[in-house]
Amino acid sequence: MSLRLAPRTFPRPRRPARRDGHTRTASLAAPLDEVARHQRAGGPEDTALYACSCGLSFRADVSASVACPRCATAQAW
Ligand SMILES: [Zn+2]
Repeated sequence: MSLRLAPRTFPRPRRPARRDGHTRTASLAAPLDEVARHQRAGGPEDTALYACSCGLSFRADVSASVACPRCATAQAW
């Protein structure tokens, strides 16, 4: 008498029905593209484009205390 258990073959868990029955659309790809853009940038954007009243546009870290590099005017954000 053998107590050895025969290897059992477990039924594979059923895959959920595919939900992407329709073809890819731009609306589906857009969020993924946005995430990819953030990942490429090394994370969420932490710089913003500021347009100073002196006419200079510059990118700077998003902060409560950003000053224009030209005229040193504090920028609202
Ligand atoms: Zn300025």
